[in-house]
Amino acid sequence: MTEYNAGMRMMRKMMAWVIGKKIMGMRIASCKDLARVLYDYIDDELSDSEKRSIDMHLLVCKDCRNYLKTYRDTIQMVRKIPDTPMPQDFSDYLEDLLRKRLAH
Ligand SMILES: [Zn+2]
Repeated sequence: MTEYNAGMRMMRKMMAWVIGKKIMGMRIASCKDLARVLYDYIDDELSDSEKRSIDMHLLVCKDCRNYLKTYRDTIQMVRKIPDTPMPQDFSDYLEDLLRKRLAH
């Protein structure tokens, strides 16, 4: 094993270890904590210390980073969908596309 790989493994171990623990007066959020405050975190309604604790967790936890990203993307997508009916030409286009698909 190269020295670099050994170092990376050590880092990952350390990072996993800090989750849910209090380090230098600051608690690193656990995955559960993140799930609990996710809404508030995204809406930016957490206190500074809570936000820092989540930020730190995201720094060390890849799973939660991915989770948060998917979550954010979904919210953004839903927010982008206008609250108006689909334009007629677009709906015609979709119908046309669907019919062509079914014809094959
Ligand atoms: Zn996590």
